[in-house]
Order: sequence, then C-alpha cells, then structure tokens
Amino acid sequence: MLGIYGGTFDPIHYGHLRTALEVKEHLRLEQLRFLPCRLPPHRGLPGAMPQQRLRMLELALEGAGPGYALDRREFDREGPSYMVDTLISLREEIQDLPLCLIVGVDAFYQLPSWHRWRELFDLAHIAVMHRPGMPEPDWSGELGQQLRERWVEDGESLRESPGGKIHFLAVTQLAISATGIRRLIHAGGNPRYLLPDPVLAMIQEWGLYRS
Ligand code: ATP
Repeated sequence: MLGIYGGTFDPIHYGHLRTALEVKEHLRLEQLRFLPCRLPPHRGLPGAMPQQRLRMLELALEGAGPGYALDRREFDREGPSYMVDTLISLREEIQDLPLCLIVGVDAFYQLPSWHRWRELFDLAHIAVMHRPGMPEPDWSGELGQQLRERWVEDGESLRESPGGKIHFLAVTQLAISATGIRRLIHAGGNPRYLLPDPVLAMIQEWGLYRS
C-alpha cells in the first residue's frame, strides 16, 4: 500500500517526520510519499518559495531510506493544488494498488470544504492521525454519515481494496508546527531540534522566514 502525506511543509519539521514514520509502520506502507502542495487552496501564500520548500523536503528525506519519497506532481500543475486532481493523476500511475491519504484530524474535520471531496473516497482510503482528547466535531452532517459507512477499526483491512475506507490511528503528539517555527525565526529565536539540522542550515543560509 502506498501512503500520501500532503502538506505545505513550510518548513518540514519533526512533527511531520515522526508521524510519517508511525503511520508507515502501523499501516505497513511499502512507501510513504510526502506530497507538498504548490498553492494551498485553503490558506495564505507560504513563507518560502515552492522550490525552497521542495529542497527542504529533499534535505529532510536524505538518508530516510527507500520507503520514503517525495512526490512533485503538484508543482508541475498550474492553478490551485486540489487533492482530487492529484489522486486522479496518481491513480493513472498505480492502477488498482491500495492507496491511503494521510491527514491530521483537524484536516479531516474540514474535509467537506475540499474541492469535490466525495470523489476522494473513490480514489483512496483516508487514514486520520488522531489527536487524543481533541474535541469531536458535530457528526450529524454528511462527514459523519461517510464516517459511519466507511470506518474500519483494523488498519490491515485497508489493504483489501484500492480505497474507500476511513481509519483512525493515534500518533505521538509533538507540539511542533510550521507556524510556530516561522514565528520563532521571525522573533530571532533558534528552532534547532524542532526540525532536521540540514533543513535549519538551509533556512539560515537563505535567510528564510526572517521577515
Ligand atoms: P502550519 O503551521 O503552517 O499550518 P503544519 O506544521 O500544520 O503547518 P502542514 O504542512 O500544514 O504543517 O501539515 C501537513 C500535515 O501534517 C497535516 O495533516 C497536519 O495535521 C500534520 N501535522 C503537522 N504538524 C504535526 C504534528 N506536530 N503532529 C502531527 N501531525 C502534524
């Protein structure tokens, strides 16, 4: 099974890397691909240029091993980066292989605001990285209905079909966010140990996030 970990990665940090490892082991993914979006549809412009975010990801994944990869397909496309288009293009490549989209629980609650969100289930499973103690949303809407129809307790069962199921898994919570790192740098602080050293070296060399 292939896992897709999407995000802005502005910059990539240990919160991403640790959860990616845990999800990969839990779901026994053959490969986990980090998929940076070029133009996030839901938020303001990233602080670093697309090519700089890509380079930071490359640096973070150096030596991570063959089970991790970087997928650049959203950078080759014009316009906003819609996940549904991304998964359609991935499907052409992998045919019927089980595919799992990995999202944080906060992103999952926002799913009905994603472009053509219902089609995502035709294309992939969704693995939700759960944050224990996080307030539950109102499940009376359509997302709740989708969840009731598609939820599976056992991650192994995702391997039995190309997509269409929803699985929750708990991951270690590291209170690290890219926003926090950008703010820290802006305020003149040192973000060391929140992200890989080669990524930090590049941020310092290029003077990223200072203004
Ligand atoms: P920002 O602070 O700029 O919003 P972020 O740190 O949340 O960025 P994104 O690139 O937006 O990072 O996130 C990509 C994915 O990584 C999302 O699904 C998000 O839930 C998850 N994620 C980010 N930080 C963590 C963390 N510390 N622990 C677990 N998951 C995380």
